Amino acid sequence: MCPHHARGTIRRQEQETQQFRQEDDNIGVTTTEETEIGEIRRCAGCHRFEPKFASSSKHFVDVGDSDTGRCVCLACCRTLVTTSDEAIPLWERVLNFFEGPLGLITDEDSISGVSRQSLKSIPVILVGLNALNDNMKKHSDGVHHKSSQIMTRGLCLSEFCGHTTESVAVTAILCLSGLPADLTASILAHECCHAFLKLHPNFRYGKHLPLMVEEGLCQLVAFLFLNDGLESCDTSTEDDNTPSDAKLRQYFKFCIETDEGIYGEGFRFAARAYAEMGMQELLYYIALNRDFPPIND
Ligand SMILES: [Zn+2]
Ligand SMILES: [Zn+2]
Repeated sequence: MCPHHARGTIRRQEQETQQFRQEDDNIGVTTTEETEIGEIRRCAGCHRFEPKFASSSKHFVDVGDSDTGRCVCLACCRTLVTTSDEAIPLWERVLNFFEGPLGLITDEDSISGVSRQSLKSIPVILVGLNALNDNMKKHSDGVHHKSSQIMTRGLCLSEFCGHTTESVAVTAILCLSGLPADLTASILAHECCHAFLKLHPNFRYGKHLPLMVEEGLCQLVAFLFLNDGLESCDTSTEDDNTPSDAKLRQYFKFCIETDEGIYGEGFRFAARAYAEMGMQELLYYIALNRDFPPIND
């Protein structure tokens, strides 16, 4: 049990003890105090609260992420992705999206761009929250800052080759395990965009892009992928209280659009520019100016 949950339990126990005492004092009074609710868990995928007082069949499922207390709701649990093997088809789909609709990568090696093979050869590894956080600390190179809704759920690891800063190798992409498939896929699309920027000759020389520009661009790719890169999904559910896969996907897009941090701010700039100029031209503009184009109202 994580310290946070331990605290919740202790508090609850104290409250329960207190309530029993009160009941002793007021025999016959059986009102339930609101304070006994204690801590309510939230789904790691869709952020819904666990219906604590519903039947145990509706309780959330522990994702088995040692000590972090992460759990998912039954809707997110339907498509849970827990192993790196399960992520392979999702990564394929992301690459198809980069090659097809976005037109950003080529089937064959080229010196002027990024090939499908160079992205395909990057190991995609699903890890628990602790491993992801450890790697974050080790590789904190300014990319991936905290955001209000979008906590870090993926990481693109790279290193310079040789003694120059001109050649970069992407060594791995890490993604948080125990999330629903659509969310996992959108995280992979976001990280794939980081990898693309690191490998593309127009971007890899010199220093990083400004954080808001790079994260905004990656969030735009994740959003477009949720919109157009996945198979159409189920709109039906077994009961009214459980969202359908289509509703969940809509929520994941909503989170990207409404984030109040630097990710959301970057996304909104990127989305407006994309609507005006398309992806290729937007990337070309950013390579030259290291910023989004000014917004014309
Ligand atoms: Zn959920
Ligand atoms: Zn990012």
